[in-house]
Amino acid sequence: MNSPLDLLRARGVSRRDFMKLCAAVTAAMGLPAAMEPEVAKAVEAGIKKPAVIWLEGQDCAGCSESTIATLNPSAAEVVLDMLSLRYHETIMAGTGDVARKAFEDTVKEGKYVLVVEGSIPKENDKFCVIGGKPFRQHVEEAAKNAAVILAIGSCAAYGGIPGATPSKGVGVGEIVKDKPIINLPSCPVKPSRLIGTIVYYLTFKKAPELDNVGRPKAFYSNNIHENCPRRGQFESGHFLNDWNDPQQADWCLLLKGCKGPKTFADCGQVWWNDNVNYCINAGSPCAGCSQPEFYKEFSPLYKKQEMFSLPGVGQVNPDTVGKIVAGATAVGIAAHLGGSAVSGRLGNDHKSKEVSK
Ligand code: SF4
Repeated sequence: MNSPLDLLRARGVSRRDFMKLCAAVTAAMGLPAAMEPEVAKAVEAGIKKPAVIWLEGQDCAGCSESTIATLNPSAAEVVLDMLSLRYHETIMAGTGDVARKAFEDTVKEGKYVLVVEGSIPKENDKFCVIGGKPFRQHVEEAAKNAAVILAIGSCAAYGGIPGATPSKGVGVGEIVKDKPIINLPSCPVKPSRLIGTIVYYLTFKKAPELDNVGRPKAFYSNNIHENCPRRGQFESGHFLNDWNDPQQADWCLLLKGCKGPKTFADCGQVWWNDNVNYCINAGSPCAGCSQPEFYKEFSPLYKKQEMFSLPGVGQVNPDTVGKIVAGATAVGIAAHLGGSAVSGRLGNDHKSKEVSK
């Protein structure tokens, strides 16, 4: 059988590109640069093309799209060449009994990577029935012999948008209780996080370090607000309230429902679509799609947050936060709030606050 590197060469990926990918993955996972050769060795030699079962439940297939649609030669392609994708309802050629057999044979074989996309109706088996069986049962069956389980996208991780519908979709962790789940939330999944996690697993044969809601710390430790390009506007008390006013184009989006202060993810460090852009930089408030509270507790997305507390000031209404922040320096509260602390410590009563460290 061809080695993974042979397969990559056949696709025009040079050794140099391959090493660059390994370096990027090593850095993304927060590992020291000295680990790069080890990552490369494991990816190159240790791969017997592990089998993958990719299930889709209540989803829009956006996570599959996101993973497949990265640029050429894409990191996604590179990794997919290293995996044996045995079952994927959207992109596999086989259908019906043939597809079902591929699923069953892989489950029997065991030790595969299980990727789940989309949420799972927990209470009512009438929703999301595939091949005559509720999706919940497919997940339970596939989880049994899986070596590692990845819940990708907000829906599979915590329920996402379907969690706010009558189906009351939940994440994989609510269904599979006897195995650790690696959650990779966001809407859709960010390919660099998926690829980084798979390569980490292939290298070390274990899950990366996770936070208290099951997300790899390497990708979900940074607060969006702390790293926001509009943070200076926040500190100056400039809050956009009119989309059509060009003067407000780069102002803080807090009053338009930005969930940046409540959200932890690497969007500001590693931009989306192969580093092209990310929500806030493109003019959209952060929807908080990496948090367990997305979508139910964060909707409507463009509505301002109810209340915040500022250190040294206490509870403030978003309508008045501009005056308070802007006036803080004048009244000497800056000593309490202290430069970046104003932006970085927007307190809230949110459980996400405990997530990162
Ligand atoms: Fe940026 Fe949102 Fe924070 Fe404003 S509230 S500084 S837009 S993250």
